[in-house]
Amino acid sequence: MVSALSRRGFLGCACCGPLAASLTASIGALTPAYAAGKKTDFTADQALHILKDGNRKFVADTPDQTATAQILDPRIKHERRLEIAQGQTPFAVLVSCSDSRVPPELLFGRGLGELFIIRNAGNTVDITALGSIEYAVAELGVPLIVVMGHERCGAVDAALTIVEKNTTFPGNIGRMVEPIIPAALKAKSSASANIDRAELLDEAVRENVRRVVTRLRTATDPLLLEPLQAGKLKVVAARYDLNDGSVDFFMEE
Ligand SMILES: [Zn+2]
Repeated sequence: MVSALSRRGFLGCACCGPLAASLTASIGALTPAYAAGKKTDFTADQALHILKDGNRKFVADTPDQTATAQILDPRIKHERRLEIAQGQTPFAVLVSCSDSRVPPELLFGRGLGELFIIRNAGNTVDITALGSIEYAVAELGVPLIVVMGHERCGAVDAALTIVEKNTTFPGNIGRMVEPIIPAALKAKSSASANIDRAELLDEAVRENVRRVVTRLRTATDPLLLEPLQAGKLKVVAARYDLNDGSVDFFMEE
């Protein structure tokens, strides 16, 4: 009802009058498909390829990554908004950090309606995140989950500091990073005695991602288990490099 009202409001606008007929036709054409549960046609491997290709362009600063090009990008213009207004068909779930330097759409050169994103400090998966992931896979048919950590992550750094110095953090920050502590402990116990602190933090970042990937891959609920066993869903790990903008994918198989 809300979207129907919004649509009428938009189409009734004087400046958009000439477009009304064609837009009504395109919306009408889209509605039945989405109502029937339209999902992405991409496989997990195709979805992964698109993300890798988008990140390559991001790293290379190719022309379609400039601010002007992004304003003109058909993937974020009103035609695209209308195309997806009646239903979304994202092709990848991103579990990533809230860090302002790590916005998934920009790193992968994607637009509206393409990535289903769960972000929190430290890219962990609690019940809210897990339910969101299950929804994306079971209801929206997303074939790929990417768990992405990043260089110099503050949340992982906090967990590592707790392990190293038994530091306490105010508010809920300490509890928030608790799920990362096992990764910090593993990184610390596996590291050589003279490891550089930055390297140790980076290993904790990767270990945190590995643990989340493993947890999702070993999910016992049918919502993830069945598509995983049927080969219709992949869960992969990634680590974003703040310095050069590249995303290193690992645990691809
Ligand atoms: Zn972070």
